[in-house]
Amino acid sequence: MNCYCGTNNTYENCCGIYHKNGGKTETAVQLMRSRYSAFVLANGDYLMQTHHKSTRPLKEKKAIVRWAKSVQWLKLEVLESTLDTVKFNAYFLENGTADVIREDSKFVRENNTWFYLGLNTN
Ligand SMILES: [Zn+2]
Repeated sequence: MNCYCGTNNTYENCCGIYHKNGGKTETAVQLMRSRYSAFVLANGDYLMQTHHKSTRPLKEKKAIVRWAKSVQWLKLEVLESTLDTVKFNAYFLENGTADVIREDSKFVRENNTWFYLGLNTN
């Protein structure tokens, strides 16, 4: 089975690596993909760990996990990326209705580790 994020690799050889190593990806795109897979798996710890501390939504963790479990994730499309931004569409079914998150995300690298910062406002 291909990884949840849609690459041709297995989960173990794709996002599973980062879910085990605490999010030590080489690129922002890899981190974004691994965060999508963490949504599919409702892995709240990983979502918090890879979210930059300045914007980390700790109080919303339970609600995020509950929501991630409640929807059916369909697929991820990465549209464009730069060194520290990723544009993507994440498709899911919520209560049987198709919906999509369209986001332009901003990432920051600290101590050789990429973190999700939030929406790219530039
Ligand atoms: Zn993956």
